[in-house]
Amino acid sequence: MKTIAEHLGQVQANIADACGRSGRSVNDVTLIAVSKTHPAETILEAIEAGVQHFGENRVEESQAKLPDVMSRTSVRVTWHMIGHVQSRKAKDVAALFDIVHSVDSAKLARRLAAALPEGRMLRVLLQMNVSGEASKEGFDAARWQADPAVCQWLAQETREILAQPGLDVCGLMTIAPIVDDPEIARPVFASLRGLREVLAETLNHPLPHLSMGMTDDYGVAIEEGATLVRVGRAIFGERLR
Ligand SMILES: *Cc1c(COP(=O)(O)O)cnc(C)c1O
Repeated sequence: MKTIAEHLGQVQANIADACGRSGRSVNDVTLIAVSKTHPAETILEAIEAGVQHFGENRVEESQAKLPDVMSRTSVRVTWHMIGHVQSRKAKDVAALFDIVHSVDSAKLARRLAAALPEGRMLRVLLQMNVSGEASKEGFDAARWQADPAVCQWLAQETREILAQPGLDVCGLMTIAPIVDDPEIARPVFASLRGLREVLAETLNHPLPHLSMGMTDDYGVAIEEGATLVRVGRAIFGERLR
C-alpha cells in the first residue's frame, strides 16, 4: 500500500502536468486535501508530508477533529468548508473555518457575517450549480448563458453578499457531475469560468478564485482555470464511510 506522501507526490505531479498543458504556473493552483471521514492521525500524516490546506464537509465531524489536529501540530493549517452549510450552523462554521466554498444563499452569507467577531474577515466562494443536476446544492445557475434573467438574479444575489461586512467574496465554486470520462465535465468547468467573468465584470469586483475539480477530474479543471482543486480519494484512498 502506498503512503499518503506517495499519493500526494503523484497528485502534485499531475497538477504540474495539467499546468504545463495549459500554460499556467503551479503557484496559481492550490491543492486542498479533502480529509472528510478520515481521523486526525491521517490529517497529521498529510501535514508531515507537506499539506497545509484541508477540506471538510460536515460541521459535526469538524468540531472535534479540527481542534484536535491543531493542538497536535505547530503548522498553521488552512481549513476549507466545502460542504453544504445550514444557516443555523453558520456560527460554528465561522468559528472553525478559514474559507467557506459553499455559500449558496444570501441568507447564509448574512448569518456568516453576523457570526464574525469584530475585525475578523472570512473568505467565501459562491457555489454555483452550473450543470443543472437536481441533486446539486448551489445557486441554480444552469441557464445563465441562455437566460439574461438568470444572470441578473445571480448578479443581484452576489451584490447582496458583497455588501455583507466581514465577508471577502473571492470567487466561485462548483461540483461537476460524477462521470467516467472527465472530458464530460469540461463544459461545466468552462461554464463556471465564463460565469465568473460575467459576474466580475457586471459587479466590478474581482473574483479570482475558481474552486473546481476532484479526484476524477482535477486535471481537466486546471486546464479550464481552477485555482483551488479539492482532492480526497487520490490522496487518502477510499472514504471511511
Ligand atoms: C468529497 C468532496 C470532494 C473530494 O472528492 P474526491 O472524489 O474524494 O476527490 C471534493 N469536493 C466536495 C464538495 C466534496 O464533498
